[in-house]
Amino acid sequence: MTTDFKTRLEQQEAGLRRFDDRPLPEILRERAMPRPLWARRPMTSSGSELLNEVKAAAALSPAEAFCIYAHVPYCRTRCGYCDCYSFPLTPSRAPELADYPGYLEQEVCLWGRDNPTLRKKRLSTVHFGGGTPLTIGVDGLCRVVDRIREYFKLNESTELALESTSSDLNEKVLDDLMQIGFTRLHVGTQTLCDPIRRAIGRREPGKQVLEKIRYAVESGWTVSTDIIIGLPHYQEEDILADVAELTAAGVEGFSIYELVRSPRNRAFFEHHGILDPDITAMWRQYQYAFWLAEKHGFRLKIYNHMAKGRDDNRYFTSPSRGEDLLSFGTIADGYFGDFLYRHAELDEYRAGIVNGNPGLLGGLKRTDAESLYARLEREVRSGHPLPEPFVSILGPESALSLFQRWIAKGFLRVTDDGESTQLLANGSWFIQQMLDDIPINAIK
Ligand code: SF4
Repeated sequence: MTTDFKTRLEQQEAGLRRFDDRPLPEILRERAMPRPLWARRPMTSSGSELLNEVKAAAALSPAEAFCIYAHVPYCRTRCGYCDCYSFPLTPSRAPELADYPGYLEQEVCLWGRDNPTLRKKRLSTVHFGGGTPLTIGVDGLCRVVDRIREYFKLNESTELALESTSSDLNEKVLDDLMQIGFTRLHVGTQTLCDPIRRAIGRREPGKQVLEKIRYAVESGWTVSTDIIIGLPHYQEEDILADVAELTAAGVEGFSIYELVRSPRNRAFFEHHGILDPDITAMWRQYQYAFWLAEKHGFRLKIYNHMAKGRDDNRYFTSPSRGEDLLSFGTIADGYFGDFLYRHAELDEYRAGIVNGNPGLLGGLKRTDAESLYARLEREVRSGHPLPEPFVSILGPESALSLFQRWIAKGFLRVTDDGESTQLLANGSWFIQQMLDDIPINAIK
């Protein structure tokens, strides 16, 4: 451990202890990810009315630009550690997989038809996530993109992005995707360390992943990837090697996550005996990943993504730019202004599409207070909260005391030029706690 990192770690620990004298692991276990509004209170709209409500919200929204997100819920096989909403491609799933690009196309038509406002707006990005979007094939992605081009306004600055496992990529696939217009790729690398890759069920050795990333970078792609803290046997020296090798290969962004336990991946935790992980070690690794990425010249883009160069990560950063989000596909979330909506799980979604509607689960509109809170939430999640919105929404005294508290806890620092702020690794780890610190009662 270098002195520089040791000092950072001690400062971060001191920040936490300033307000809390419980043992460190107890404090650290309070980490939680931000929850969307629909998970905090019941949705209020549903059924056939909902499509019209979302369209009305889209027509009224003041946002100048919007993003498109499409969810593909299939993977070749399920990786035991993953808690994404996806299904393994068993033979019985083959027919529905073949239908899925058509479902997405149908949705594009449903949203684009009779929607002149949306058709005129600038489209910032089209992002395919999952699951593994390439399970619908390059042809499937091409069909959906063509349909989006037919209904919405793409221009040369619209970014086409996709997430993928490395095993679904090869030179031909990358070249074909680029021909369609894709330029940003998020590769689920997890780690390059082969024993760990084998333990988590990755099919390719790290060397092969690096070769594919190098090829993509040399071909002009913007490539980002993940660091997942808490993988079995993952050590600080592995993080050190991963960040160095991936950076040298040309990666321009790292999303830093912690392995999250859910009912979908509980068996994996049981199998590896990590149901009760060493939370302090995980926190130290989380800190280390941030620190290393900074040393390699990456800067915080949003609270859990470090980037440099061309990596805008437009889909995940869209709220910071005040853009709306039109979403397609099962469980995909979207929003226009203060109206939020969510698609149903797969069977219900498919039934909806077959019946000529977009398979929505429900929607809800933020109250005035929720809308103001969401404004502040966006600031925090951007990784660079500015005081002005807090001053105008909470009043100068509350805003000042909130920022002072965050700085004292080591969640936040003022940038060297004094012009901005930046979340520290503690702020990222305790992102939900930062949001909980916002005094809702002070919202005017
Ligand atoms: S890690 Fe990627 S490939 Fe594996 S199940 Fe999750 S989404 Fe699918």
